[in-house]
Amino acid sequence: MEELKTIEELAKLSEEDFMTGLLNRRGGIRRIDEYIKDNPDSRCAFIIFDGDNFKKINDTFGHQCGDSVIISSAQEINRQFSKKGIIFRLGGDEFVVFYKDVDIEKLKEKLNEFIALCNKASVIGSKRVAFTFSIGIAIFPDNGKNFDTLMKHADDALYKAKYDGRARYYFYSDKMVLPNREQFMFDLDEFSRGLP
Ligand code: GH3
Ligand code: MG
Repeated sequence: MEELKTIEELAKLSEEDFMTGLLNRRGGIRRIDEYIKDNPDSRCAFIIFDGDNFKKINDTFGHQCGDSVIISSAQEINRQFSKKGIIFRLGGDEFVVFYKDVDIEKLKEKLNEFIALCNKASVIGSKRVAFTFSIGIAIFPDNGKNFDTLMKHADDALYKAKYDGRARYYFYSDKMVLPNREQFMFDLDEFSRGLP
């Protein structure tokens, strides 16, 4: 018979991402809200990571391999950012790091390292799988004072990174020229499949 769980255990499980063991969206939002409330004068980076062409990884190597890539990416993000970050899985191939007391130049170095590491193909099971991430960053409090605004601005920067070729990071700026999202949904690969 399954063991009964305590209220604390259930509360913890409700904030955990089952697949990666990271916090889930609900857990991440709660921790970030708490941190912002307790540290209104700190300077932090809200960073969204989104896997590049992840559907193709699933299509080419299979869903199980896709799962392994998500798990190993979660481990790598955790290894690189957990010292000063609140990390959670936003869903699918997306992760958020809320990096506390940020030094922008050091963060840039870290992100360059992360992108370079991803660019080297990893061995998943018996296969070599190359995968990269696009990254969007919004700074607290300059680009937003609450979770929703930071998320929106980091997401704008992420979309621009995708649009400009993926495997790169962009910091949000209100002067940024944003691609038209509807136009971006029009995938050239899919279009080319219809050509003779
Ligand atoms: P883009 O570069 O524009 O981000 O393209 P993408 O193919 O990565 O597409 P998108 O980020 O919009 O969608 C993520 C895809 O990742 C959708 C789904 O096929 C896959 N995915 C989401 N969650 C999981 C999961 O838990 N396991 C696996 N194997 N695949 C997942
Ligand atoms: Mg993706």
